[in-house]
Amino acid sequence: MLKSSEYSHEYHHILKDDKSCKEKAYEFAEGYKSFISAVKTERECVKYILNKATSYVEFDAKKVKELKPGDKYFINNRGKAIVLLTIGKKPLSDGVNFVVSHIDSPRLDLKPNPLYESDDIGFFKTHYYGGIKKYQWPTIPLSMHGRVYKEDGSFVDINCGEKEEDPKFIITDLLPHLAKEQEGRTLREGIKGEELNIVIGSLPIQSEDDDIKCKVKENTLKILYETYGIKEKDFARAEIEFVPAYMASDIGFDRSLIAAYGQDDRVCAYPALMAEIENDAPELTSITVFTDKEEIGSEGNTGMVSEFLFDIVEDLCDVSCVKARDVYRHSICLSSDVNSAYDPTFADVYEKLNSSYVNRGVVLTKYTGHAGKSGSNDASAETMAKVIKLMDDRKVVWQIGELGKVDIGGGGTIAKYMSQRNVDTIDVGVAVLSMHSPYEVTSKLDIYHTYLAYKAFLLNK
Ligand code: MN
Ligand code: MN
Repeated sequence: MLKSSEYSHEYHHILKDDKSCKEKAYEFAEGYKSFISAVKTERECVKYILNKATSYVEFDAKKVKELKPGDKYFINNRGKAIVLLTIGKKPLSDGVNFVVSHIDSPRLDLKPNPLYESDDIGFFKTHYYGGIKKYQWPTIPLSMHGRVYKEDGSFVDINCGEKEEDPKFIITDLLPHLAKEQEGRTLREGIKGEELNIVIGSLPIQSEDDDIKCKVKENTLKILYETYGIKEKDFARAEIEFVPAYMASDIGFDRSLIAAYGQDDRVCAYPALMAEIENDAPELTSITVFTDKEEIGSEGNTGMVSEFLFDIVEDLCDVSCVKARDVYRHSICLSSDVNSAYDPTFADVYEKLNSSYVNRGVVLTKYTGHAGKSGSNDASAETMAKVIKLMDDRKVVWQIGELGKVDIGGGGTIAKYMSQRNVDTIDVGVAVLSMHSPYEVTSKLDIYHTYLAYKAFLLNK
C-alpha cells in the first residue's frame, strides 16, 4: 500500500532534493564561466579541449594494436570537432557510452568577399549562421574570430575584440525618430539579413594617390595587412565569425543564473568534457564527442552527418576484432544538447506540464521535432527507463522537457544521427532561457546536475 503522497509525482526545484549542492554548483560555475567567456567558436573550443585533455593521446589506428582499460585517446577532426574516449573494462561488443554535444553556436559569418565602404564608413558583409533573431544583433559589441589562409599557404588565427583594450565592432540600427517605416515591418524583417553589416572603420588612407576611390576600405586593408599579414583576396580562404564580445555574468541578486554567449551548446559541452576527463576506469568504453555544424543541421564533414565518428568506432572495432554493428546495438547515447526553459513572460508558447524549467535539474528530452514529432529521435520507453534509473540511483535531479506547445514550432538535435546507427539515444542537457540570443541564460544548479548526470552515465556499470 502506498502512502497517499506516493501516487503522484511533481518536478520541483533542485534545492528541494539536493539541499547541499549550491556551494559545489557555484564553484563548478566559476570554471564554466571562464570557459564560456574565453571560448567563442568551435575552433577555440577544440583548442581548449586539447589543452585540458592532457592525459589523452592521439589515436592512430595504424599504430594501436590493443585497447587497454583506462587508455585515453583523442581524435581531432580538422580542428573544428573532437572526440575523446576512454577504454572500458568490458569488451566493445558490450556497447559504449556516447555523450555527444556540439561546440558551434549561432553567429554571424563573414561572406567570402566581405569588405566595402559606403559614404566614408567601412563595413563587412555577413551571412548569419544558424537560427538567429536578426533584430537582436545590432547595437551590441561584437568580436572577430577565425582563421585566414594566405597565398603562401600559411595561416593566421584572429581573435579581436575580447580583451578590454581591443577594438570592438558593431552593427547599427535606425534611430526611433526615423524608424516609423521600419517599425511597421514584421519582427522577422525588423533587421534583414543584408542589413547585418558590421562597422569596421572610418578613417581614409593617407595617400597622395588620387586613383584610390575607397580610401576607408584601403585604410582598413592596410591595417589588416600590418596586423595579420592578410590581403583582401585572403577572405576567400578564411572562416571568420563575429560573435558577441560579452564575458559571462552572474545574473540575479542571488547569483543563481549565468548569462553568456554560446551556451547552446557549450553549456553541455563543458560538463561533458569534465565528466569525460574524470572518467578513469569505466566499465564500458566512453566516447565523448564535441561536434560542429549542429546549428545548420549537422551538415558537412565536421558535423554529425559525417562518417567521422563512425569511422573511429570502426577503427576501434578493427583493433579488438568486433563488428561495429554489435557495438552500436548495445550502446546508449546521450545527445548532450540544451532545451528551451519555460519563460513566464512568454508563457503562451509553452505547455506547462511538459516544459523544462530553470533550476529543476538536467532535462531528459524524449523527443524533439516539428509538428507531430517530425524529424525527431523519439527515445523508447526502455531507453527512458534505463536513463531515469541511472539518474535516480545516483541522486541526479532531472526533469522532462518538450520544446513548446505541439503546433507552435520545433527543433532538432544530433540525436537522430546517432539513433539511425541503431544506438539507443536520448537528449540530455541544460534548460536555457533566451536560447540562440547573443546572451543566453542558464542556471548554475542545472549545469552542476547536468555534470552529475554525465558522470553517472559514464560510470554506468
Ligand atoms: Mn544545441
Ligand atoms: Mn541550437
